[in-house]
Amino acid sequence: MVQETIFSKIIRHEIPTDIIYQDDLVTAFRDISPQAPTHILIVPNKQIATVNDVTAADEQALGHLFVVAAQIAKQEGIDENGYRLIINCNKDAGQEVFHLHMHLLGGKNLGQLVN
Ligand code: 5GP
Repeated sequence: MVQETIFSKIIRHEIPTDIIYQDDLVTAFRDISPQAPTHILIVPNKQIATVNDVTAADEQALGHLFVVAAQIAKQEGIDENGYRLIINCNKDAGQEVFHLHMHLLGGKNLGQLVN
């Protein structure tokens, strides 16, 4: 059993959070410390610690992250100008919460990440 993080409590609505979407597979909520005008985290409801822990059984939930990301980007009105999706894995990437999550960032020019 993987140790729970704060995200499990958010998914179960045990702490006040700006949840903007939830279904059987994923939950999306606004980041507590936004790095852009739109900064939303989309997480599988099942706790998977890092990308290293992903298995074939997770394909549906993880594919669904992209479907929900595209829907939310449209709702937020950032689909035309564009946005960035980020999944950090372990310490060199700066992962702080060990419940796999996708960052959806947009609403401004984010600059180049890789040249
Ligand atoms: P990581 O660095 O692990 O990819 O990103 C973790 C993200 O979770 C950070 O952007 C951080 O601001 C966000 N975060 C951490 N704790 C909470 C929380 O309790 N509520 C919300 N909404 N976001 C959180």
